Amino acid sequence: MLTEDLKTFIRENCGNPALGIASIDDFTPQEIRDMEQGNQTMAAYTPLISADMPVLNPREFMDGGRAIIMVGYNAFFGRDHALPGKPPHGEIINAFVNQECVDYNAARNDTIIAFLEKHGYSGMLVPAGIPQKILAARAGLGRYGKNALIQAPEKGSWLSLYAIFTDAPLEPETPLTDMCGDCEQCKKACPTGALNVPYTCDIERCLTMQAMYNKGPIPLELREKMGSCIAECCICMDACPRNKNLAVNTAVSMPLHLVHPEIAPLVNITDAEFDRLFGGTFFEFLIMEKKYLQRNAAIALGNHGGPEHVPVLIEALETQEDELVRGAAAWALGKIATPDARSILEKFLKQDPSESVRSEIQGALDRMKKH
Ligand code: SF4
Ligand code: SF4
Repeated sequence: MLTEDLKTFIRENCGNPALGIASIDDFTPQEIRDMEQGNQTMAAYTPLISADMPVLNPREFMDGGRAIIMVGYNAFFGRDHALPGKPPHGEIINAFVNQECVDYNAARNDTIIAFLEKHGYSGMLVPAGIPQKILAARAGLGRYGKNALIQAPEKGSWLSLYAIFTDAPLEPETPLTDMCGDCEQCKKACPTGALNVPYTCDIERCLTMQAMYNKGPIPLELREKMGSCIAECCICMDACPRNKNLAVNTAVSMPLHLVHPEIAPLVNITDAEFDRLFGGTFFEFLIMEKKYLQRNAAIALGNHGGPEHVPVLIEALETQEDELVRGAAAWALGKIATPDARSILEKFLKQDPSESVRSEIQGALDRMKKH
């Protein structure tokens, strides 16, 4: 009775999110191995994750916990299929850069916790350190798709997932069955082959992982495939038939200057401007330093810019202190390949103080010769 009352309450008062109840049972040995493997892979790219990070079982998050309420709020704000456009624009997920999204979801989580407290129970949001996708599948909120994302019936995979632990005696749901069937649209659409093994993502080949978490140079073989990806690649989400005809979340704003920023100005963005646009956001937390956005923007400009962007890239070579940014600018100049680009690369081949940047410049010149 309590379980049904809670679910009805959430549907009626929290924007009818994707919803499920998970047991608080331990993870399976295979789930733990997968998480450990994932941590080890990611630790090679970002200091946010350590290779020996312990995998905690759900019970360790809440004394006396008896169930986990999994909710997936609508994070579909519509798609701009004209991107990258002219001048080229990129994309950063609204929920990562717009505090309104965070506040909107937080208010709904608070509403759920208030319901539990009114009925004499505790509720605790666990915002990090818990594998939301595994718990969402366990909760029957949705099912893993072949793109390794959770997709919920009628609500697709544009979801902001949250886990609320509770000591209320809620009835766990039965996990859903497969929803992909013979479909392979995401695998066909993925530019890097990251989805070649169904239901798993080769995260080292995933452009979102590279753009957001890789704190080194983007591998050469992935740079053209990055396209206009400055932060997230949404190609497999856009390809998924289950994401067609979704209800657009119009309850919060979508600040276009943050969600679809013009790429060129990001290449030499100042500290002050980066702070003004992204300071305090989840995007800043994940990307950690502006130089990684600058690196991504330079690569995106190499893919979608034109001769008019050569001065921006020359400015990066001349003024940017970080060798990752200068190296990406050199690569992009090699892609745009105008006579101006060639002569500036030849000049900086002799004078850039960094061996890695000179190597990027040499590579760019070599590739220009071949074309
Ligand atoms: S986000 Fe992009 S690169 Fe990553 S799996 Fe999906 S389509 Fe492939
Ligand atoms: S595109 Fe097709 S195979 Fe991929 S997640 Fe969506 S339904 Fe599944």
